[in-house]
Amino acid sequence: MGTEEGATDITARQRARMVDEQLRARGIRDDRVLEAMTAIPREWFIGERYRRRAYADEAVPIDAGQTISQPWIVARMTELLAPRPGDRMLELGTGSGYQAAILAALGADVLSLERHAELAQQARERIASLDLPGSVEIRVADGSLGDPAGAPYDGIIVTAAAPAIPVELRDQLADGGRLVIPVGPRNRQILTLAVRHGNDWVETAHGACVFVPLIGPGGFPDERFDPFL
Ligand code: SAH
Repeated sequence: MGTEEGATDITARQRARMVDEQLRARGIRDDRVLEAMTAIPREWFIGERYRRRAYADEAVPIDAGQTISQPWIVARMTELLAPRPGDRMLELGTGSGYQAAILAALGADVLSLERHAELAQQARERIASLDLPGSVEIRVADGSLGDPAGAPYDGIIVTAAAPAIPVELRDQLADGGRLVIPVGPRNRQILTLAVRHGNDWVETAHGACVFVPLIGPGGFPDERFDPFL
């Protein structure tokens, strides 16, 4: 048996175990989400230094002081976003690119915005090596107020914490569109789903979580430039 083959077997087994023990056993029900997370090699999205922790039940550091979310959170946010093949999705906070890859594996066409150019570039390279039914475009931009030019979106996923739901993001949802966003102070947020029905947005809360901050006018000030933090 070649080493390559062996490595593939090992990570495939780790993934199957992650899906059973961390996701299915803890309430993730959407089979398409479980399948996507069984298929996408999470370790590709993590630098060598932390790769051993790719299938651990936790967020893992990536470059630029950011993190790739815990597998359960990725699954839950994807389930709440409910991507269908051909849906146009906006992600704010590309980070490693893993979440965007999961959405494209479910057939969505994703525009993902990231403020750190080096993360955006790494994520592009990783996703390019996967053969996914949906597409992913990654742009370097401040996405804290979304992407008005590309609106309306069938779904918007914010993978960084915001103090409140920016009204601009609600407005960029299509009718029936879903917004998934962690809302709250820097140290603890509530995972929030807002679904647009005409000019009504129905909000539901989905438990506590902790994300790195969304930086910018729709999020928090950059702490390096904020003397009060
Ligand atoms: N979804 C990612 C995890 C994102 S971590 C994954 O699957 O790995 C949050 C990311 O949001 C960080 O990379 C951070 O740089 C980015 N971010 C924070 N504020 C932002 C903003 N205003 N615009 C775009 N990206 C932002």
